[in-house]
Amino acid sequence: MSAIALVTGGNRGIGSAIAKSLTAAGYTVIVTYRSGPAPAEYKSVQMDVTSTESVDAGFDLIEQTWGAPEIVVCNAGVTKDTLSMRMSDEDFEDVIDANLTGAFRAARRATKGLLKLRRGRLIFIGSVVGLSGSAGQVNYSASKAGLVGMARSFARELGSRGITANVVAPGFVETDMTATLDEKRRDEIAKSVPMQRFCSAEEIADVVTFLASPQASYITGAVIPVDGGLGMGH
Ligand code: NDP
Repeated sequence: MSAIALVTGGNRGIGSAIAKSLTAAGYTVIVTYRSGPAPAEYKSVQMDVTSTESVDAGFDLIEQTWGAPEIVVCNAGVTKDTLSMRMSDEDFEDVIDANLTGAFRAARRATKGLLKLRRGRLIFIGSVVGLSGSAGQVNYSASKAGLVGMARSFARELGSRGITANVVAPGFVETDMTATLDEKRRDEIAKSVPMQRFCSAEEIADVVTFLASPQASYITGAVIPVDGGLGMGH
């Protein structure tokens, strides 16, 4: 069997596009889903990244059934946007728990298998707002900024074993997450992007697939922007 790639939150949006791209590149792809039915197109396991038990059980099942993932894409994420004055502790903690601690839970568990393989890739889906900040997204921006320090620490801990850790930082991407924006706000955002448009999920997936490839073997601790120029200078 070809190398195993795992994508958390791979049942829809960017995660699903990443799963499709990695499949086309020849990997055996496993996606995780939290709610809803298992996606028909991919091998899948149920996993809630806010639960250590769920993450560990999901990895146990993957390893027993298919083997240890060599490519691990920590993509699952949520938003709970509101201005900081109105943001409750719960709003803040829930987003950190899913986006930052959730990625940590998955990456920590994945490391066991990667160390045995003595090669592999940790790829974290961050965001342009992790470095630029974003009004109404104190929780989300903090979670995505945290991924940068986390990826770089994994890069330092695991580099000698041939394992890389990087962040892909998208700008605004056409998915359910941005579908709630009204047309006026979408136009404003598109005009603020040098490329004058939103990104497709496939454009993020292509970069993730490159980072997974042997061609990216010496890239680690990097934050790769895929944001149409929105975050230039950060
Ligand atoms: P979607 O809302 O379309 O999908 C989110 C995915 O994450 C779903 O598969 C969802 O599962 C999963 N998920 C959420 N919470 C959990 C959890 N606790 N445990 C397991 N899985 C969970 O989002 P996108 O595809 O747009 O976003 C994917 C990633 O890209 C996120 O990390 C997001 O922050 C990031 N990103 C997105 C941008 C955008 O503009 N869309 C821009 C920059 C970054 P379920 O279906 O069960 O809810």
